Amino acid sequence: MVRRCNRMKVAASGAAMARVNPKEKVERIQAALPGLRALVAPCRVCGRACGVDRTGAEVGYCRADAGDGDHVRWSAAVLHFGEEPMLVGRGGSGTVFFSHCNLRCLFCQNWQISHEGEGRTAHFRELAQAFLDLQAQGAENINLVTPTQYIYPVVQALGLASEQGLSLPVVYNTNGYDAAELVALLGGIVDVWLPDVKYMESPPAFRYSHAANYPEVAQAAVQTMWRQSGPLSMEGDTAGGGVLIRHLVLPENQSGTFEFLLWLKERDMTSAALSLMSQYSPQFRAAECPEINRSLTPKEYEDVVDFAAHLGFEHVLTQEMDSRAVYLPDFNREEPFRR
Ligand code: SF4
Repeated sequence: MVRRCNRMKVAASGAAMARVNPKEKVERIQAALPGLRALVAPCRVCGRACGVDRTGAEVGYCRADAGDGDHVRWSAAVLHFGEEPMLVGRGGSGTVFFSHCNLRCLFCQNWQISHEGEGRTAHFRELAQAFLDLQAQGAENINLVTPTQYIYPVVQALGLASEQGLSLPVVYNTNGYDAAELVALLGGIVDVWLPDVKYMESPPAFRYSHAANYPEVAQAAVQTMWRQSGPLSMEGDTAGGGVLIRHLVLPENQSGTFEFLLWLKERDMTSAALSLMSQYSPQFRAAECPEINRSLTPKEYEDVVDFAAHLGFEHVLTQEMDSRAVYLPDFNREEPFRR
């Protein structure tokens, strides 16, 4: 999920789509909150559709406790320089890593926070202040990493911070297991959609993430993001809006990478900015699955990059093969990623 793009084959570009101003964003947030509250109680914001009341004491598959719908738990709020260049710019991406996860892949490199829930719990007012602090530090955007399980308090925090002067683009950095209804509600609140599409087939989605319906849920989410926001648009050197699709290439094509590229092509999405990640390494419980208990080979990665070029993708970001060694996080450090 988190890494540096050492090589940019083609710079993302495209006609800039105007971002809503802070006042309008506040209005959109206020208009969306009732619908978001309804979507978390009973909770159906992700493909699990647990149906628990996230504005009360109940906790679903993600294990995230949002208090009365007003609390969030996060591990770090930092300037991050390891994201794609159009997210980092000069100031760094103002990244907030939320605790717990609705997907919990057994190879997760962020397992300390996603599986074990490391972090601190606070009222959304503190999160709003964290957003403003990142802006004051020079962040290029507010990068919400795995926010779905806290979406109701997160959007309340965005509203409060926007009232107090937050004007940065909001990046929704997600595993893609988001309900299309949620994506629709976040139109005009999220500026840059950053889904990491993980699987195209149910068997690996079940084996590694216990989410057999992941492909259909993620595909619907990505299509909704694309219809809503379209190609990536730039504000100077950094992204101001649109969709940037990540894809972590797994060994043995367990991620269905070739199928995913074909799926995008069939939907006329070759103008989508695509970040193909080579950084997979077996973390956490990956040793339980022999077929993914190794890193990607250079040949496996070159084949998918070549296939993307063959299909005509216009904006492809690639990684060097050593990225995995450089950008493994440790959330026990104050700065999870070494600069
Ligand atoms: S966000 Fe959590 S509680 Fe809500 S549907 Fe997903 S896993 Fe269940």
